[in-house]
Amino acid sequence: MTADNDDKPAGTDHDALFETIAREMLGIETLATRNSDRLDFHDLAVWSIAAALNRAFVAGYQQAVIDRGGSGDDHASSESDESNLVPPAFACPQCGERDMDQLICDENGEDIACRSCGTNYIITQLG
Ligand SMILES: [Zn+2]
Repeated sequence: MTADNDDKPAGTDHDALFETIAREMLGIETLATRNSDRLDFHDLAVWSIAAALNRAFVAGYQQAVIDRGGSGDDHASSESDESNLVPPAFACPQCGERDMDQLICDENGEDIACRSCGTNYIITQLG
């Protein structure tokens, strides 16, 4: 559980996120260059790469939502606007729902559950 809701420097979190995704989804120990072909180059299945990219993409959206909620904007906070919508490619195929609050993704970032109509679907738009 992450406990820090305070403002934090942007950017540094991304490295940790990428490292985590690389380790958990691609089996890559670190993204740091180690000047060894054996350590720096990896054979990866395209579906693994697609899944990792999907997860990074979804994580970015979730982080954006957190950032928006955590920042102290004192105007226009209650209106729903375009920035709270996922790209059309990720919309619910059943009802067309694009509101991030209604689309719950699992921890792999691939399976989406639509709360509007109850449909579960998988992101397959890469490639
Ligand atoms: Zn739906």
